[in-house]
Amino acid sequence: MKFVLASHNQKKLREMAEILEELGIEIAPLPEGAPEPEETGETFEENARIKARAAAAYTGLPALADDSGLCVDALNDAPGVYSARYESAEYAAYAKIHGLKIGAEPLPPDAGDRDRTMRLLHNMEDVPDGNRQARFVSAIACVWPDGTELVVRGECEGEITRHMLGAGGFGYDPVFFVPAYDCTFGELPAEVKNRISHRANALQHLKQKLKNKI
Ligand code: IMP
Repeated sequence: MKFVLASHNQKKLREMAEILEELGIEIAPLPEGAPEPEETGETFEENARIKARAAAAYTGLPALADDSGLCVDALNDAPGVYSARYESAEYAAYAKIHGLKIGAEPLPPDAGDRDRTMRLLHNMEDVPDGNRQARFVSAIACVWPDGTELVVRGECEGEITRHMLGAGGFGYDPVFFVPAYDCTFGELPAEVKNRISHRANALQHLKQKLKNKI
């Protein structure tokens, strides 16, 4: 059975294809020119559904989409669905409405992972050790052309460090400390992170649910 993945990220495609091939599922990339809907959801699940629905409607194939991010307890679960847009002008408007802490100036549109991570550390300067719990969350939606939908969630628990540690991974990995491994995601070998991550967790749930369904 063929599914389309609502992403152009080759790494995500390979990771999903490896886990789902046991079920006889083949994963195709999103065709060039496919519409990329705005991620207007307030939850990871909603955003994953939005992307999967658009891909299923465009291709006529069952579609998979994921949405992920970092939720910090002491920041009311921010950056959350804004993880890739944390401290942008768009985020500043949202943060004002919800009374969330933001820096003096929004980050420029060309800000990168490192800028957002430094801002996160800055916004958490006053948060004491022992109150820096956080989790990475990944939601994966599967939408069939007949409208049937299935959504799963995976999480990985950790704590936010005070400095960036490690050069591996991407995004907030260098400040995400995993107590069980006594290091950050940025310091963990990729194969270990890929085994224990929120995405790996969500993919295992997805595999189980799809196994029962097909
Ligand atoms: P996406 O859902 O894969 O586009 O991820 C959204 C954002 O969440 C990324 O730009 C990162 O900032 C953050 N993020 C998601 N997963 C990870 C991870 O495994 N490590 C670090 N940051 C992540």
